[in-house]
Formats: sequence, C-alpha cells, structure tokens
Amino acid sequence: MIRLRYGASTDPGVVRSVNEDSFVAQDGLYAVADGMGGHVSGEVASEVAVEALQAGDYEGLIEGVRLANRAVWQKARDDASLRGMGTTMCAIALIEDAEGNEVLQVANVGDSRAYRFRQSELEQLTEDHSLVEELVREGRITPEEAKVHPQRNIVTRVLGVEPDVNVDCKIVDPYAGDRYLICSDGLFNEVPESEIARVLRQERDPEAASNELVRMAREAGGRDNITVVLVDVTDDGGKAESASEVLAADPGATTARRIDQGSADDGIRPRNDTTMLHAVVPPGAAATTEKHRRFTWRVALFTLVLLAILAGAAYATWWFGRNTYYVGAEGGEVTIFRGRPGGVLWMDPTVEQETGLPLADAPQATQDDIEQGRQFATLDKAEDYVANLLERRDAERGEDTTTTTTTAAPPTTTTTTTAPPPP
Ligand code: MN
Repeated sequence: MIRLRYGASTDPGVVRSVNEDSFVAQDGLYAVADGMGGHVSGEVASEVAVEALQAGDYEGLIEGVRLANRAVWQKARDDASLRGMGTTMCAIALIEDAEGNEVLQVANVGDSRAYRFRQSELEQLTEDHSLVEELVREGRITPEEAKVHPQRNIVTRVLGVEPDVNVDCKIVDPYAGDRYLICSDGLFNEVPESEIARVLRQERDPEAASNELVRMAREAGGRDNITVVLVDVTDDGGKAESASEVLAADPGATTARRIDQGSADDGIRPRNDTTMLHAVVPPGAAATTEKHRRFTWRVALFTLVLLAILAGAAYATWWFGRNTYYVGAEGGEVTIFRGRPGGVLWMDPTVEQETGLPLADAPQATQDDIEQGRQFATLDKAEDYVANLLERRDAERGEDTTTTTTTAAPPTTTTTTTAPPPP
C-alpha cells in the first residue's frame, strides 16, 4: 500500500499582478497548469484544465489530460474573448498497473516539469515542449545557452489550441523516501536545480519545502508566476527494502519506463491506459530495448512505404511511356510504334509492326497526322486505324482505276460494282 503526503504553494511572483498558474493537490492526483493568453484568458485556461482533470471522468492520465485539452479548446471556441488561450499541464497520479501494482503515472504537455528527488539526487522526469529544448535536442544550442535564450518562453505544445493533443507519459515505481516535485517554469527559471535539491534535502515537511521554494523564486526575481506541488512517498508497503539490493547494484534499474513517447508521430494512440499498461515492458533495460524496437519497426515501415511509392512511380512512368502505341512514319512507310512519339525519359519508341503502306499512299488528310505520330491506347486501335488507311487507299485506287479504265480499257470486274448504273 503506497502512502503519499503532499504540500503545495503558489504565488503570482514579484512582477505580475495576476496568477495564471493553477494546480491540483488531492489524494492520488497532483498537477500544475501554467496558463497563457491575453487579459484573463491564461487564468481561465489553467483553471478549466485543472477542473476537468479533477472531475475524474476518465481512465488514466493520458485520457485525463486529453479531456482537459478538449475542455480548454471548447471554452476558447465558445467565447471569442478567450480565443488563443492555452495552458501547460504536468500531472502525476497514483494508479494500478495491469499486474495490480500501485505505480505513479506522469503525464506532460508543455514546459512545466515533474522531478523526482531520490537518494539525494534530483532528476527531471519530463521533457519540456519548448522551442529552446528542441534546439538543445537538435544540438543547435547548449543547455547553458537555453537558460538565457530570449525565446525560452515559447512553448511548442499546449492544451487548448487543437481539439486533440499528444500527451507524453511515463510510469514510475514509487519508493518510500522518493519526493516528486511538479512546478511551473516560474520556479526553475529562477532557482537553479542544485538549490532546489538542497531545499528538498533539508526541509522534510512537504508544505514547508513548497513554501520555501516559492520564497526563493520570488527572491531571485519572481518574474513569472510560481507554483510548486511536492508529493512525498511515505510508505511503499516494504517495496523499498526488497528492492534496495537491486537499487544499490544499479540505481537506474527503476528509472521511469517510457510508454507513450512519440505517439503523435505514428498516429497510434492507446485507447485507454489499461491497454497501454499491458504494453509496458518490465523494468530494467526495457526502456532502451522498447525504444530500439519501436525505432526499427518504424524504419521498416518507412522503407516499405518508400519502396511502394517508388515502385508505383516507376510503374506509372513505364505505363505512360511504354503502354501506348502510335502510328508514325519510318523510311517513308507507315509504321506502328510502341511508346510515345519522341520517347519518354529513357524509353524510346520501338517498331511494333511494319504495314508496307508508303506514307505517300495514305490519304492526303492523314499524312501530317501520321508524320507527327498518331497515338492510340491499344495496339488493336492502331491496327484498326491502319486497316482503315489501307481501305481508303484501295478505295481511291479503285476510283482511279474506274476513271482510267472507262476511257482506255474494258471495265474490270472490280470496277463494274463501282460503275454508275445504266441510265
Ligand atoms: Mn510560466
């Protein structure tokens, strides 16, 4: 049985008159939301998000945060004065995993943070969704440069802007003595992490520690709203003792398992947290293998799709360039070609059929057409066309014969049929 104790503190800071941060701290559910937007809208955004989370009509934090997102988005849509508002949300909930173990679920959207303080070490559990963090991840600036970057307030993922949002999520095994800190950027932008760790080391009471952290942020400048929620694991049902040997051997053994990273990229979202937890791999080296497997699977899929597209394009080009016929002229003779006049890319037309019909004998009106190359979708149609040319040629010859023979020689059998009827 996991037992938690918590403390919380919030303050508008020194510079701002309005506190746009909101938080939840109740049994088993803890969250910080940092609202943004003009006038009162930042305040509204964080409040609406936190209320939706508190309402609890969901299974697991991913669904909870997505519901909160929907609530803020809806509110902004209904009220024009609130348009463009948004909020971060960083939340921790005590839940049961598929095996019935009590675990902590950490969910995050935006640049508020969750930290774990364990064995005197402070570790950030969440990844900021901010411009500077992305620049750091891409290696374009250093973490030191990020701290003083003029655009460090730009958040790249928030609640309330789109009807749905991708939520980062982790499962963490809680151990007695762990302290989980959730805070808005008003704390960590003002107070160095080493100082935060010092307070968590020295002040055992979570309420007093929260108040002290807020006081330090104000003292350091207090340029933003400051919110701190601190959750202590006071009892883990003896789990820490049984695991202490493992921990001593490898402190990273119970490091958070990542389960939903990058779900926006592949478009696959767990239906609810139960199905998701079934997918959780055992602790230990699992986090990296899971990530690796996901990676290769994605690369394989990507390669497959790419190959399919290339094959499709090649086929289309081939189809366009080769799966067609035209009637043209070669060496002064009407010829059926396969391909397109002039060719397509590397595909030159080839002779399909020689007709033995001199171009000069083709009807005058068709000669230009043939010289340019008259196109047909199928060989049959091209053959029909040539047959028609031959018929017309023969017909013309027949007429010629009639006119010449009437004056010179007795009519042949062929001309009798075409000869005018007797008067
Ligand atoms: Mn802030």
